[in-house]
Amino acid sequence: MATVTYDNVTLTYPGADRPSVSDLNIEIADGEFLVLVGPSGCGKSTSLRMLAGLEEVTSGRILIDGRDVTALSPKDRDVAMVFQNYALYPHMSVADNMGFALKIAGVDKSEIRKRVEEAAQILDLTQYLERKPKDLSGGQRQRVAMGRAIVRQPQVFLMDEPLSNLDAKLRVQTRTQIADLQRRLGVTTVYVTHDQVEAMTMGDRVAVLKDGLLQQCDTPRNMYDHP
Ligand code: ADP
Ligand code: ADP
Repeated sequence: MATVTYDNVTLTYPGADRPSVSDLNIEIADGEFLVLVGPSGCGKSTSLRMLAGLEEVTSGRILIDGRDVTALSPKDRDVAMVFQNYALYPHMSVADNMGFALKIAGVDKSEIRKRVEEAAQILDLTQYLERKPKDLSGGQRQRVAMGRAIVRQPQVFLMDEPLSNLDAKLRVQTRTQIADLQRRLGVTTVYVTHDQVEAMTMGDRVAVLKDGLLQQCDTPRNMYDHP
């Protein structure tokens, strides 16, 4: 677990005439579930990707647990990201998909098995460990993608529209599961969505972006009371 700080962060893509994210300041508490919300193109993914180290900031700093990680590569940041398209390896079983990053990192097999089994239990995937992704439902695949991130036991968990490929009913069900899971793990989480209802039901706090600018950042309760 860890705090996350966006300290006056700006990103202007090469050749762009204005920043995609401007002077972003957010302090995320240890164990907090923060949702970044706003219309398409407002800078949500860019903000998340900068935290993951997948985009370089133009100015400002990003801190994880008080440590300046601005110049660090993704693998040195101790963050794990779940993407909207799941990006599972089709030829690998669920278990191998979940354990793959650990295998690459040289974690020993018994430890990988233990973590994969724990994550599968939490995510209700135990009976699917030997299946291939194509033999799973969309919701199950989405849970595998989360499992792959969880087994790494990151300090910070990042999710970019993880529910956008699910139908409406499954989306509601899965958003409750994700929120429960996050609370159980207590891992600091930054979650991107364009869906305001999703934001308000899932977030401890909600940060609203528009044209790369932070409009407000508050608890859902305060936002309803003072829209
Ligand atoms: P969101 O996630 O809220 O939809 P993005 O962070 O993806 O928004 O994009 C913010 C702005 O930056 C948009 O105007 C988008 O067109 C622009 N943008 C995103 N990625 C790139 C890129 N790689 N190069 C240039 N412009 C980009
Ligand atoms: P190999 O890669 O040599 O086939 P394993 O059969 O031990 O070695 O599987 C590799 C990894 O796949 C394991 O380290 C573990 O992450 C995962 N794995 C495979 N099957 C299971 C399972 N039934 N339960 C938990 N983890 C599994």
